[in-house]
Amino acid sequence: MLTRYIGIDLGTANTVIFARGKGIIIREPSVVAVNTKTDQVCSVGKEAKEIIGRSPGSIIAVHPLKDGVIADFDIATAMLQEMIKKTLRRTLFTKARVLICIPSGVTAVERRAVKEAAEKAGAKPVQLVQAPLAAALGAGLNVMEPAGTMIVDIGGGMCETAVISMGGIVASRSIRVAGDAFDAAIVNFVRKKYNLLIGERTAESVKLGIGSAFPEEHVATMEIRGRNLLNGLPENIKVTSEEVREALSEPLSHVLDAIRETLSHTPPELSADIIEQGITLAGGSALLRGMDKLVNRETGMPVYVAEYPLDAVAEGTGRILEHPDRYEELLSEEIRYY
Ligand code: ADP
Ligand code: MG
Repeated sequence: MLTRYIGIDLGTANTVIFARGKGIIIREPSVVAVNTKTDQVCSVGKEAKEIIGRSPGSIIAVHPLKDGVIADFDIATAMLQEMIKKTLRRTLFTKARVLICIPSGVTAVERRAVKEAAEKAGAKPVQLVQAPLAAALGAGLNVMEPAGTMIVDIGGGMCETAVISMGGIVASRSIRVAGDAFDAAIVNFVRKKYNLLIGERTAESVKLGIGSAFPEEHVATMEIRGRNLLNGLPENIKVTSEEVREALSEPLSHVLDAIRETLSHTPPELSADIIEQGITLAGGSALLRGMDKLVNRETGMPVYVAEYPLDAVAEGTGRILEHPDRYEELLSEEIRYY
């Protein structure tokens, strides 16, 4: 039997899979469509995301990894199983040896749950690696050096910060504020200011279209459609990029707090390294315009955005799979079994 070595970034928003010898071969939303009458899984990933808000009542879209933890174990298992199968089908392999990335804030019980989910999906052995370590590797940072490097991974459900030295996490924070919270803040803002209810997907498209974290000269506007809460009728309004930035300021302040706290828990020698090496941003929300400038202004550190922020974690698993001997110590100890 041919064994495929794969690395999985099980993100709250997206699942990204790296296959050794191939590179990244799957990027799909972490969404599962479930028929509530039969409890059967209808589809996973892209297909499932398409149906959100458009399906008949009996089919619902589930995010099994709400807020960075496994919210629904059975559905998470089904999703992993489907994604692993897809990977094997695409690469004509029959067995998988899997390295999965988990958020650093998850408990031992949740970690076990992720591992079991992958094993149920037919993978063996299953090893885990902490997401910030993989994100840093994937962003091109040298995590094994005896020098401090800092990675901030801002995804959908979680923002994780970590200062890393010699392959270990020295200081870290993980908060449940990231892209989803940015979307929710836009929904709230529009509701309060315009009495207009918009969906989360609309809010996300506003964020992607005209969202920013740092003041810009050019003010952009975008027309959005929602439901007027006073008369119940559909209505279009225009929002400006300045309004969106105002809406995002609250959740962004939590991200900045997490970064500052992490820095304040970093030993002085390593802080000195970070002043030189700077902070690297990864995760989809690192693509929010002006995020790097905001973090730079608030910390005074140089700030870089990873070249492919959405892929950084999966790329990092790839580095480990390609050089298992070099990175062996990054694998979670309690579950390491080669
Ligand atoms: P996770 O690791 O939680 O799966 P990802 O790293 O895949 O999350 O990032 C997904 C988040 O990134 C979503 O909230 C999405 O809206 C956000 N995102 C993606 N592209 C952009 C962009 N260009 N600007 C702002 N946010 C973005
Ligand atoms: Mg992620």
